[in-house]
Amino acid sequence: MKFSQFDYKRPSIEVIRLQFEELIDDFNKADTVRRQEEIILKINSIRIEFESMMNIAFIRYSINTADVNNEKEQDYFDEISPEYRELVSKFYQSLDASPHKSGLIKRFGSQLFDVARSVVKTISPNIVNDLKKENHLSNRYMKLKASAKINFNNSDLSLPELEPFMESQDREIRHGAFNAYWGFFASKADELDNIFDNLVKLRTNMAKVLGYENFIGLGYARMRRIDYDAEMVDKFRQKIKKYVVPVITKLRQRQAKRIGLDNLKVYDLFLMFKSGNANPKGNPEWIVAQGEKMYKELSPQTGEFFDFMTNNELMDLYSRKGKADMGYCEYIPKYHSPFIFANMNKTDDDITVLTHEAGHAFQSYMSRHFELKEYTEPTMESAEIHSMSMEFITWKWMDYFFGKDSEKFRFSHLSNALSFLPYGVLVDDFQHWVYANPDASPSERKSKWREMEKEYMPHLDYDGNEFLESGGRWQKQGHIYEMPFYYIDYALAQICALQFRSKIETNFDQTLNDYIKLCKAGGSKPFLQLVELAGLKSPFDDNVIESCVEASEKWLDEIDDSKF
Ligand code: ZN
Repeated sequence: MKFSQFDYKRPSIEVIRLQFEELIDDFNKADTVRRQEEIILKINSIRIEFESMMNIAFIRYSINTADVNNEKEQDYFDEISPEYRELVSKFYQSLDASPHKSGLIKRFGSQLFDVARSVVKTISPNIVNDLKKENHLSNRYMKLKASAKINFNNSDLSLPELEPFMESQDREIRHGAFNAYWGFFASKADELDNIFDNLVKLRTNMAKVLGYENFIGLGYARMRRIDYDAEMVDKFRQKIKKYVVPVITKLRQRQAKRIGLDNLKVYDLFLMFKSGNANPKGNPEWIVAQGEKMYKELSPQTGEFFDFMTNNELMDLYSRKGKADMGYCEYIPKYHSPFIFANMNKTDDDITVLTHEAGHAFQSYMSRHFELKEYTEPTMESAEIHSMSMEFITWKWMDYFFGKDSEKFRFSHLSNALSFLPYGVLVDDFQHWVYANPDASPSERKSKWREMEKEYMPHLDYDGNEFLESGGRWQKQGHIYEMPFYYIDYALAQICALQFRSKIETNFDQTLNDYIKLCKAGGSKPFLQLVELAGLKSPFDDNVIESCVEASEKWLDEIDDSKF
């Protein structure tokens, strides 16, 4: 079935509440494992229906945030989804208290119960109103960015449409585009500060109501982090600082030499090669056709999956005004269909987005066999392994998109994968500080960001850009507004993806099998167990970061980049 034929009907929260209450009541009274199993599956079907409608509404809204009907439906879900979450949590409480738990674990596995315990700690009736306000604020942020019409080069551009100019070979053009891009954020600085300040206060208040000292613990529980904690994450960040930051400094020097500059200003960073970046040789339709060829050759499973995506129109790839400035993959469980959303803009990102989001989508496709909703959707740090590793697994086929520039692409892809790591942990470190210091003022937050930025990204030279110099860069990072503490996930997953990259060099077939095995396991296990199942080492283990960085550096050093 095609996306346009998916049936959308606004669900009534009143009806769902009655159904849930009745079923939970039956569940609590049930005297056999069998009866409780049946009720679990009934609740599961109600959730599949509800969440499918919620996801369809979100997809439609992000495709066109300016459409009044789309906005109305999204508003409705912003309003009722906290009540829905509360109902799910009530169900999870009963699940956790079941006298038949051991029988249920035999049938469904223990991960369901670990997820349930984690979710129960994130909600209570006393915070439902705050959750609604939080949803609305997040949407104000998303809409603000989507509304950008930046006059540049005699046309009005959206933020993603402006990005290609920021990697122009002409320094004046990229400097101008850069100023226009950040000028937009500077012009909205008060509103951006205001939205975030309200979010921090709301989140802190919810955490206190739920009995947490601050939002950090609640943030971790919301992300369903079952088998690692803030202390392990802190050590991980320290290691990135120690082992990765110096490598990035060297890579930046190499880049400066390559593009013929003495030192790189911030607006030079996107230009990787003097002869221009590796850009895809065609438009989105052509990219999809090449993608189809690639996924068919990669494996029978990926071939079948990609046919499914194209035949059912499950991708919206072009950048347009009014479209949300983001890339994502959403899963619609009722139709067993992933949906890929991107803002292709004729840069090499078009291809990484295709492989990245297709990695997420392929995982959902391979996890369709799970009956429980919880198991089709892994937590984010696990989910990002599928996506970031797919970017590397498809390396062999990059000449399909970049022709003779494919080596250039691989070189910048791996450099960028490494230089992402310090930024990834910086975003995480910053969020820990923000929520440990909820009374800080917007300007104190910005100074703190700038201070941390100097530690993790010492090479940055903002060349006097006032907004960035004052510490405003994080305001472009949607996760910080929309999904607090979702970011370290990318850094953890990148360390896993880099392990896959090294393994591909020695044994492609075995590595691909491990990857497919991981995708099939979906969310049926917590992060560290999934990592092990995929034959990878935990990113928290000793020497793992060091050896990933060493292998990547070796690959980059063997390339003669002077020829690019
Ligand atoms: Zn992703």
